[in-house]
Amino acid sequence: MNFDTLNLPEPLTRALATAGYQQPTDVQAAAIPPALAGRDLMVASRTGSGKTASFMLPALVRVLAARTQAAQAGQATPDPSAAARTPHSRPRRGAAGPHAHRPAHPLPAARILVLAPTRELAQQVAKAAQDYGRYVPGLTVATLVGGVPYGGQLRALRGGADIIVATPGRLLDHLGSGAARLDHIQMLVLDEADRMLDMGFIDDIRRIAAATPAARQTVMYSATFSGDAGRLAAELLRTPARIEVASHTEAHADIEQRLHWADDFGHKHALLEHILGERDLEQALVFTSTQRDAEMLADRLADIGHSVQALHGGMPQGQRNRVLQGLRNRHLRVLVATDVAARGLDVPTISHVINFGLPMKEEDYVHRIGRTGRAGRAGLAVTLAERRDFGMIQRIQRFTTQRIPAATIAGLEPRRAEPRPLSRAGTAGKPPGRSAGKVPGKARDKAFGKPAGGLHSRSRGRDFESRGRG
Ligand code: AMP
Repeated sequence: MNFDTLNLPEPLTRALATAGYQQPTDVQAAAIPPALAGRDLMVASRTGSGKTASFMLPALVRVLAARTQAAQAGQATPDPSAAARTPHSRPRRGAAGPHAHRPAHPLPAARILVLAPTRELAQQVAKAAQDYGRYVPGLTVATLVGGVPYGGQLRALRGGADIIVATPGRLLDHLGSGAARLDHIQMLVLDEADRMLDMGFIDDIRRIAAATPAARQTVMYSATFSGDAGRLAAELLRTPARIEVASHTEAHADIEQRLHWADDFGHKHALLEHILGERDLEQALVFTSTQRDAEMLADRLADIGHSVQALHGGMPQGQRNRVLQGLRNRHLRVLVATDVAARGLDVPTISHVINFGLPMKEEDYVHRIGRTGRAGRAGLAVTLAERRDFGMIQRIQRFTTQRIPAATIAGLEPRRAEPRPLSRAGTAGKPPGRSAGKVPGKARDKAFGKPAGGLHSRSRGRDFESRGRG
């Protein structure tokens, strides 16, 4: 399939050509046609799959349709109320929503609202909107996230944003003050909905959705639709098309995974330093479990000469932005971060993701490793684990239904044997099949397999700092 079959308007196909995209990704091919037809969607797709364009392109089609209608009506400023009818919309519950017959408001109101769990993801989505919408005349995107001053956001809202990309807390502030209006929203996107629910945003999402017209189109992206995410979908979506393109159980084809067992903290450091010295490492994203660990590890790596910074939710937003900018323009070779960087971060030159501290939840492992192997490049995801991490390693392997192949580095082999799962009878089960032989500096065991059954999971017995809201 190529983009022509999607019948996208010329300004969008031109932007895709500028971006160098040859053909739609699976999620784009599956989601764009029903989204253009105005359907609600439940989309389960893996990180890095191109999901942002799968909702942003249909969103931009709506913006373009409104531009065309405004031009036909001879208006200098697009009339938001006219935009309730796009060529792709269909009659919805309650005709065109509670505000369909209102006269045009003096300020143009946003048509598209994207909610995202973290500031980083929101900023990434806003940038994608600008990129894919670069040839949409006068496109305006307001990014409403916490941790930054209100002034710029208020100016963006007053100017009449076509698209609002927001984290829920800051959007509610702007709604409360009357600065933001959602009564002309035609399309509501919940990006990484499972993560927003994990972060306790359920009531915020409900309040925000209630402030949008009932006739809106709602599209929801989530790693899973079980539990709360499924219930929220049942509340907010109407006869949605369900799209599951590549679940978390699928291998990240472009990402090689590798596991190193470490005897102790010092051994883990030695392994990290060795990996950071590998010649094929362009840029590395090193994850820690806590904010404090991120700071301490970044300091330590800086002391031994690495160009490195820390990134975590406890830092002011301006500083976080500067650090990310340093990574993008390659002033930094190593970023040490908490899970605040696990989603949304899209820097194609990250060749290595290194789990120095394990994530709190197994699904975050999938998001973390998705920071490498982006835009068609190969990536390496290395996990450094101590024996006490064994339970979490097993949970990750069960979650992904993939084994993370174990490997050793010549001269840095662990003294202790690799931990082994116990069988149900309490006897040692089949060992988890470590990489055959030692490959200096680079493991090459690609033998993915199902984890052994009947495994006992153990709690990790570690403390984690709570992660801040976006
Ligand atoms: P996403 O999952 O939306 O974060 O996108 C992951 C990466 O894939 C980003 O670097 C996008 O620029 C890139 N991408 C999205 N769609 C395509 C496509 N059709 N062809 C090539 N790259 C793409």
